[in-house]
Amino acid sequence: MNPSNQHLLIPKIESGVVIDHITAGHGPRIVEIIHAHPGLEKAMVSLGLNYGSTKQGLKDMVKVHDHPLPAAVLEQIALVSPGVTIKRVEGFEVIERIVLQPPRTILGMGQCRNPNCVTNTEGAVTTRFVAVDPKALKFRCCFCERVFRLRDMQFVLPRSAWRKGCPR
Ligand SMILES: [Zn+2]
Repeated sequence: MNPSNQHLLIPKIESGVVIDHITAGHGPRIVEIIHAHPGLEKAMVSLGLNYGSTKQGLKDMVKVHDHPLPAAVLEQIALVSPGVTIKRVEGFEVIERIVLQPPRTILGMGQCRNPNCVTNTEGAVTTRFVAVDPKALKFRCCFCERVFRLRDMQFVLPRSAWRKGCPR
């Protein structure tokens, strides 16, 4: 099956957002981020895993039916899967296409991997990382100056309801 036919394996959407060129394996995390956002808990989402791609080997794809994606959601997706393509769809046509760039600053979502960093030794310090090498996706902690690769970083992102356990 050629790559363009594979896109039909999950249904075409009339309106909404297609997230394409997702690194294989990142799709479920992206769906989790979308469903954790207030107002999107019930959004209809199609998830395709391990599609063959001429560009990148295997890729995942996510289609969000009838909902735009707020900037906060795109920001979180950019952390876990920078470089994905975001396509806005209306009337079955792609009306806008952007490549999601990694953030320049990561505020309050990253965890510093330096155990002695003040963000880990003291509570209530909002973490902040700035991009030092955007191509290599490297970020520096503003508190301890250590530099980390984005893919090695841990993020505190909203979790979907099913992970929260029993309501208190
Ligand atoms: Zn630090």
